[in-house]
Amino acid sequence: MKEISSKQTCPICGGNVVPIVYGDPMEEIWEMSKRGEVVLGGCCIEVDKEGNSLMPEWACTNCDYRK
Ligand SMILES: [Zn+2]
Repeated sequence: MKEISSKQTCPICGGNVVPIVYGDPMEEIWEMSKRGEVVLGGCCIEVDKEGNSLMPEWACTNCDYRK
């Protein structure tokens, strides 16, 4: 599993944040989401005119804050 270099915490409640994974999840991603290591963001990704993702990258496992 990929290591998160700098441990991030939620700016609202200080809880754990995990990466949000978009797209059709592979079985490995499903297993990770069951363990609370990632959040599934669905397959709809909004992008701006330059093609940059407008979707949040992180979700708090405690209060569901996303950024
Ligand atoms: Zn939080």
